[in-house]
Amino acid sequence: MLSQSIAVLGAGLSGLRCAAILHEAGFDVQVYEKADRIGGRMTTDKVNGFLLDHGFHVMQSAYPTSKRAFDFQKLGAQAFEPGAVVVQRKKGKAKFWRLADPFRRPIQGLAGGLNGFASQFDLLRVARLRHSVRRGNLERVFEGDDKETSTMLRKRGFSQSMIDRFFHPLFSGIFLEKDLRTNERMFRFVFRMMSEGDMVLPKDGIAAAPRFLADVLGDQRIHLSTEAELLDEHTLRIGGQEKTFDAVVHAYNPRRSESKRHVWTLHFDAPTSPFTSNHIMLNGDVKLHNQLIAHIAVPSDVQPSYAPEGRSLVTVTIVGETADSLGLTDANQVLDVATKELRSWFGSEVDAWQTLATQHIEHALPEVAAGTALTGQSSATEGPFVCGDHTVHGSVEGALLSAEKTSQRIIETFSSS
Ligand SMILES: Cc1cc2nc3c(=O)[nH]c(=O)nc-3n(C[C@H](O)[C@H](O)[C@H](O)COP(=O)(O)OP(=O)(O)OC[C@H]3O[C@@H](n4cnc5c(N)ncnc54)[C@H](O)[C@@H]3O)c2cc1C
Repeated sequence: MLSQSIAVLGAGLSGLRCAAILHEAGFDVQVYEKADRIGGRMTTDKVNGFLLDHGFHVMQSAYPTSKRAFDFQKLGAQAFEPGAVVVQRKKGKAKFWRLADPFRRPIQGLAGGLNGFASQFDLLRVARLRHSVRRGNLERVFEGDDKETSTMLRKRGFSQSMIDRFFHPLFSGIFLEKDLRTNERMFRFVFRMMSEGDMVLPKDGIAAAPRFLADVLGDQRIHLSTEAELLDEHTLRIGGQEKTFDAVVHAYNPRRSESKRHVWTLHFDAPTSPFTSNHIMLNGDVKLHNQLIAHIAVPSDVQPSYAPEGRSLVTVTIVGETADSLGLTDANQVLDVATKELRSWFGSEVDAWQTLATQHIEHALPEVAAGTALTGQSSATEGPFVCGDHTVHGSVEGALLSAEKTSQRIIETFSSS
């Protein structure tokens, strides 16, 4: 039985997963978190009976690490319908296309509610893309080309219209950057995950994911509002006292403030859902007509616990860089322009919506530029133990994978010593 003492700094997803694995392996683990709650970037506020996640946030049921770390049934997870609805203004009217499932059934999915949304050439290219990202094991998507996503899409022959109206609103809203400059490996990974599983929401909000891991660990091992000062590789000063551990894990990004990816998220209390299906709605005009909103979701349609009985929660995602490029830098300006766009699609029903929150989440995701490996070499083989999505790629999968690798390295280090 191992009994070495391990301090984990940071109770985000990676720190909690790393600590939970080490705890289950018999280590004496203590987690120190500087904030007053666990979860890091995966948190949920309760406001007037609504569950407001910090930024629109989903779990992907196909992520291999999530399958190992979570029990989706216990989380009460419910899935969005695969695919998306795309909205565009045509001849002064909002037109809605329902793309049933372009990830799992590209031809039928895009052709279904089609009426000319995608050309047959784009349909075939989506089918070919799907075939290529799903071939072989998952590691394959992180091999080969590592250019910008926009370059890859053009190279694959997609029309500019398909890129601007479908790929742009969807993936800029996932990558939280407006140019699709994210490494194409990340695109291949996300596309593959969407073709293999569902986007789900836990019953108690996205914060239920870190809560699930904290329950494995036990709250008595998690110390909130505690900033630990690192004195040397093994020693921390905590609340004025020095404590020595066999190992210290850094489960946060000390350079997070350098990330430019930021996002505005607006949450509205609506008397009824503006949607007729459980899809996410993409703004097909965001790139073409310099609009603001990337996408909209109604979490309460999918997971009724997100809103009180008889109300709907509408969540709007705005990529920070898009707002910057339109010169919108404060919450009122963003809300104002977004509300005009919502009215142009849903008409006067928007007037009955009450704003629940205007969230601005800075440094939301690490930069995942072209030319980087993203293979999950989460820690150097010597020196301090490190985990966090910044060491792999900015996603739940990146955070959990880094935690698994780092905890494994600790287990191996102490098993052999
Ligand atoms: C708006 C938004 C939407 C997202 N949507 C998705 C999505 O849909 N799907 C997906 O897969 N991923 C999504 N992500 C990414 C995902 O949330 C992150 O990859 C993951 O939560 C990162 O976890 P982490 O543990 O690496 O870092 P963090 O969550 O940042 O945790 C780090 C923790 O360390 C603490 N800390 C910092 N410094 C110290 C210190 N000195 N001492 C002690 N503690 C410290 C912090 O307070 C924090 O709690 C989204 C992220 C955001 C912001």
